[in-house]
Amino acid sequence: MIERLRPVFRTMPIVLLVALLTLVGGWLGHVLGTSIRISSDRQEMTSYSQQLLEHAVSVVGEANGAIDAANASHYTFCSHAEIELMRNMLFEARNLKDIGRVRDGHLVCSTILGNSSGRLPMPTPQIVLPDGTRIYPDTPLAVSNSRATVVGRGNANVVIDPRAFNTLNHPPYRYAIFFGDVQNDHLARIFGNADIAAPLSNRAETWRLADGRLRRDTCDTASGLCVAVWASLDDLDASSNGIVNAVMLLGAALGALVALVGIDFRRRDQSLMARLSRALSREEVMVLYQPVVNVADGRIVAAEALVRWQSNGDFVPPDIFTAIAEQKGMAGRITRYVLDHVIDEMGETLRRHDGFRVTINIVASDLKDPKFFVALDEGLRHAGLKPRQIGIELTERSTADSTAAIEGIAKLRSRGHVVYIDDFGTGYSSLSYLGELNVDVLKMDRAFTRTVGTDAVTVSIVPQIIDMAIKHHLAIVVEGIETEAQADYFRNLPVPVMGQGWYYGKPVSADRLKKLLERQDGIVTLRKDRKRSGRPLGKAGTGQ
Ligand code: C2E
Ligand code: MG
Ligand code: MG
Repeated sequence: MIERLRPVFRTMPIVLLVALLTLVGGWLGHVLGTSIRISSDRQEMTSYSQQLLEHAVSVVGEANGAIDAANASHYTFCSHAEIELMRNMLFEARNLKDIGRVRDGHLVCSTILGNSSGRLPMPTPQIVLPDGTRIYPDTPLAVSNSRATVVGRGNANVVIDPRAFNTLNHPPYRYAIFFGDVQNDHLARIFGNADIAAPLSNRAETWRLADGRLRRDTCDTASGLCVAVWASLDDLDASSNGIVNAVMLLGAALGALVALVGIDFRRRDQSLMARLSRALSREEVMVLYQPVVNVADGRIVAAEALVRWQSNGDFVPPDIFTAIAEQKGMAGRITRYVLDHVIDEMGETLRRHDGFRVTINIVASDLKDPKFFVALDEGLRHAGLKPRQIGIELTERSTADSTAAIEGIAKLRSRGHVVYIDDFGTGYSSLSYLGELNVDVLKMDRAFTRTVGTDAVTVSIVPQIIDMAIKHHLAIVVEGIETEAQADYFRNLPVPVMGQGWYYGKPVSADRLKKLLERQDGIVTLRKDRKRSGRPLGKAGTGQ
């Protein structure tokens, strides 16, 4: 049973990761979708309000035009000819239902009623504007059972068609049109839904989010009209779930994709590490040696061991795979592999040339790893090498945990190793920190070497780094010397420095390095260097 469940257990964290990222993606998508939806709702409400306001202005304009024309009639009041005139006007109008004449608060005649002998009394207007315009919203009509908004001025009245806005319905939005004195907030609702209060602001536009509604008011002072448009948030949700759901799904899909890509990376890292582990076991990883020279005369005084690994025919950069190996806890194995190969391949050369040194690169975890120290001690003892012949390079990054770094460096130096701070200038080291670390040699990062002979601002840092090294009695190795000009620059410094770079030689196999050393007519020992330069090149007293 347990056996059968094993694959499920194994895949559980992956399933959880995918589920979690899918949920997070979906939630972010929901938040984003909602904000897109609100912004699109607002845009839509704005344009709908504008459309309604324009229509309201044209309806009220038509009413005003008809009232003025009736008031200007030259015919006898309520004569047959005047009613005929008003009928013609009504015929032309698009949004009016009736035009009538009033006198002493009574409707005397209209296009529909003709001459009303009963002289119908007009109700009290809800609003009377300063120019005398009377507004009668929702007024019962004499001719039918219906109700409509009536507007009058002087001796004329018009009935506005209650269906004037019917073509502009746009669910889920609802609207109401108000007419009156905008500046004094004295408004009457003349169209639309009754369950909304009049706008209480004479600002051109306002938004309100209250009582589960999103509402927009738009007012036009000149025409005395305001439009309120609103929708309940529930209705908005229902109408725009398409967008929210789409963005939410997209977010969820992206979340799942990120999880799967992450898992794929993890698998690749794991398979990379598995391949590296196999390559180390099968001795397929190579160690190359890059000469380190005395720049004063170009003679090789040391070499740096650098790993080389080809996986499936592709060269994998060492800084990449050593970094992944460090994360996966496999870096110590690489360090010991390189150390074993250095002792094996270069042991004899080192035994014959007491002053020659090979440096190896280690990582932060090596400093706390007893296996590393055992490998160092036993390797050197078996091969009959002196600790100062194996230099230890630590990058600035590896010294970030200062307590462990200080302790580890002290331990290495107490055993007689020469400790180098690698890629100096790119990391954390400040002047005082360098003092605390108590190393022997400073390797200046090749980023600074590149600036020599150019106008780059950082070129001014080079003399500062050199000064710093001198103050701390550190020997200097300049990394990445590629050109004659760079070599010249460092040759002419007031202090002797070591150099490493393509100008002097690329990393080569152990055999090739041995040939280079033979051709150099025996190795220039660091003791000779000391005599030549007249000053010790390192705290350890070994020259570098
Ligand atoms: P590093 O320790 O600073 O090694 C020097 C790097 O600079 C080497 O790159 C070398 O090939 C390159 N180099 C040397 N001269 C020049 C030059 O004139 N111009 C340029 N552009 N580059 C030059 P490589 O071998 O690719 O190594 C890169 C890094 O990988 C090393 O930097 C080191 O941090 C790491 N690494 C290499 N081998 C090992 C190892 O065995 N263990 C550990 N932990 N790290 C290693
Ligand atoms: Mg190095
Ligand atoms: Mg370096």
